[in-house]
Amino acid sequence: MQVLDAKVPGVYERTGPNSAGRQNLSLGRLTVSEYGFTRREFMRWALAASAAGAFSQSFLSKLVAAAEVAVKEYPLIWMQTSACSGCSVSVINTIHPSIKNVILDQILPGHQLFLNYHSTLMAAAGTLSTETAMDTGRRHKGKYIYIVEGAIPTFKDGIDGTLGEENGKPITMLEWVRRLAPDAMAILAVGTCAAYGGIAAASPNPTGSKGIGDVLKMLSIKTPVVNIPGCPCHPDWFIGTVARVLLYGLPNPKELDEAGRLKIYFGKSVHNRCINRDYLDEGTFSSKFGEPGCLLELGCKGPFTYADCPLRQWNSGVNWCINANAPCIGCTEPGFPDAHSPLYQRR
Ligand code: SF4
Ligand code: SF4
Repeated sequence: MQVLDAKVPGVYERTGPNSAGRQNLSLGRLTVSEYGFTRREFMRWALAASAAGAFSQSFLSKLVAAAEVAVKEYPLIWMQTSACSGCSVSVINTIHPSIKNVILDQILPGHQLFLNYHSTLMAAAGTLSTETAMDTGRRHKGKYIYIVEGAIPTFKDGIDGTLGEENGKPITMLEWVRRLAPDAMAILAVGTCAAYGGIAAASPNPTGSKGIGDVLKMLSIKTPVVNIPGCPCHPDWFIGTVARVLLYGLPNPKELDEAGRLKIYFGKSVHNRCINRDYLDEGTFSSKFGEPGCLLELGCKGPFTYADCPLRQWNSGVNWCINANAPCIGCTEPGFPDAHSPLYQRR
């Protein structure tokens, strides 16, 4: 972890108690490193102090500017739209690297993510949080990564899904896409709802929810999108895609399949590498759950589902659907769930 050595023109010094009996803070002549803060700890501390009303916004900007050092930072705006938060939970469960390392350390040497906005994880709420998202978009044009988790309601100009307010009026998720998508360096669609609509867009879909790719087409926005589907998205697929983008830039079209996914994770079918292939070849099929055999008769969607679950497995390699005797439900595919229903019957 990098320790700040930038000379900050005065972090703070105590000047006596305020009316609430707490110590006032004002400019002093200390450096961040004298406090033994890391860069990230400093940022978090400064933001928390600002949110608590200890600092003005202009002073906070000076602090942040002073802390800028050579490490390349990638601001992230992680927006949860029509979603269950399951993909956030899944990604937070990353083990190697841990989520702490992902958001506090350099994810790759010289590259550090800066999670500016995540409505569930961030401490700030209300106007402070929505202003943070807008401010990141304004200050980092062309440089921030816009992560979308969830589908986007589109009927009636998206009024069924809103995030925050502006001048007393709700801001629709669709409006957020209008504002933030055009100037993003790239958009990562995390989870099947964001990528293709998923459960949020399942029939009868009264909100007209769509995946981000379809919404961008509707709005004629050309920002490149990489889909990282899954219900939820596997943490390795997310971390690996982010690392790929930071190291080599956006994937070229040959690295993506026709569903906009990286082939390194989604290039082969579940069926292709399934542990039950011997059962299939010898014609042994399970007719009820728990019975040894290929799960095709119980509705397994592995033959037309593309993901590396058989190799990677889930929960840090502990298990995966078919090894737990549950048929693959095809959660990484554009048609999920409608095209795969009923899930536990052969189609
Ligand atoms: S269990 Fe599913 S993925 Fe595995 S061999 Fe049978 S049909 Fe294919
Ligand atoms: S095995 Fe199928 S249902 Fe299970 S996580 Fe992988 S793609 Fe989704």
